[in-house]
Amino acid sequence: MANALVWFRNDLRLSDQPALAAALAAGQVPVCIYIHEPEEEGDWAPGAASDAWRHHSLAALDADLRERGSRLRIFRGPSRAVLEALAAACDAEAVYWTRRYEPAVERRDATIKRALREQGLRAESFNGALMFEPWQRATKQGDPYRVFTPFWRSALANWHMPATIDAPRSLPDLDGDPDGIALEQLKLRPARGWDATFWDHWIPGEAGAHEALDVFVDGALRGYREGRDRPDQVGTSRLSPHLHFGEIAPWRVVSALEEVRTAANGAYVRELGWREFAHHLLHHFPHTPEGNFNPRFDDFAWAKRDGRTLEAWRTGRTGVPIVDAGLRELWHTGWMHNRVRMIVASYLCKHMRQHWREGARWFWDTLVDADLANNTLGWQWVAGTGADASPYFRVFNPVTQSSKFDPDGRYVARWVPELAGLPVSLRHAPWTDPGKLRRHAPDYPPHPIADLAAGREAALAAYRALKDGA
Ligand code: FAD
Repeated sequence: MANALVWFRNDLRLSDQPALAAALAAGQVPVCIYIHEPEEEGDWAPGAASDAWRHHSLAALDADLRERGSRLRIFRGPSRAVLEALAAACDAEAVYWTRRYEPAVERRDATIKRALREQGLRAESFNGALMFEPWQRATKQGDPYRVFTPFWRSALANWHMPATIDAPRSLPDLDGDPDGIALEQLKLRPARGWDATFWDHWIPGEAGAHEALDVFVDGALRGYREGRDRPDQVGTSRLSPHLHFGEIAPWRVVSALEEVRTAANGAYVRELGWREFAHHLLHHFPHTPEGNFNPRFDDFAWAKRDGRTLEAWRTGRTGVPIVDAGLRELWHTGWMHNRVRMIVASYLCKHMRQHWREGARWFWDTLVDADLANNTLGWQWVAGTGADASPYFRVFNPVTQSSKFDPDGRYVARWVPELAGLPVSLRHAPWTDPGKLRRHAPDYPPHPIADLAAGREAALAAYRALKDGA
């Protein structure tokens, strides 16, 4: 049998794996490889939490391969040189992979594909991550979409999901070399064990992804429309890191939902649609991880960078309980509830008037689901600088948000335990009773680092100035 390299990247699964399926369909022995070369991802090399997740996900993939008679061979980059050397060493006639859409990676992959083909190898890439690849949807004029609703309408009108393909039961493998290096040599785990508490909340790998999907379909899905906004409850699927690392295909998720057909299916699939839209935007507007989608905001009067308040925000010491709870949840679990992501981002961009990139960078390093497309869209949406942004005058009031979406203050009490002894009404705004706050939580900041009323006014003034000047 001929050999083919199957280059695993953010598609760490064996079911619905088009690159693996291509090798098997061609009657080739799939030589399963992973190449570590973060520098090739440009300014957005994976952050520490992503690395920690990847470590476990690669271990899970290797175990799944070994169960089937194969294994994962790990190498260090540069990717092109490694692929060329490996193709020669194992006499491979083809290289297969699934596509990624980060601008630096897209550029690198295009170069690699050309080079491999010039050498006479069959180099093929496939869609393994999206329901609609970025170039598959366009406006009537042939332009990219800039607004979610028409994008999603067009997606729904052209709905063709790939069939699901179960993981192969057994796999042939190459005899002997090339062997690669041990996973531990990549040193992906944080040196000081910061991630130790993450794994009480997550099972990285394909089996963990399928388990999370089953738990969601049997539980929170039915109440998703209301539950998705409640950080004090388990109301969402928590599939985001699994989707980011490609441990499950989005169309596998949709197909599981179709089997139960609840009234909430549409609402859930629409959220997957935001993920699609984010990738559409990142592909067509590759400058947006760094620059405003809307160039009008290039003149926006951000406050001067303030290291002290940024540190208070990052460590959950702003004095605003729902903001602090979110940032502490992030630190301890590698994840934050979507509603709270919006609240902490709004507080940073609007009340503190720090640049959205400051927050985006922190999320990038600390989220296990850090995803260049989704993170960029999320931050630009909240900051009001994005394609389909929240209107500039929407300044989330964190106290109102906290009272509405964490009505019993349970989320706050869980992540900011020093406030758990306060009456519920005070957990949302403890500074309103300084005496009680001092008695219960003497170390908690006595008032918000950015005053809610003054911060809101200053933000609105800055936005209005921009509007008037336009
Ligand atoms: P569910 O509610 O169960 O949603 C299912 C899936 O849909 C998610 O797993 C995710 O893949 C997708 N999805 C849901 N909401 C969004 C959204 N608003 N935008 C894009 N996709 C969405 N998501 C990331 O995956 N990575 C990020 O780096 C990221 N950064 C964000 C930054 C900010 C400031 C904000 C406001 C949102 C960000 N999001 C990001 C989107 C969203 O918060 C997470 O996808 C969601 O909280 C993941 O939890 P879940 O899987 O339980 O979501």
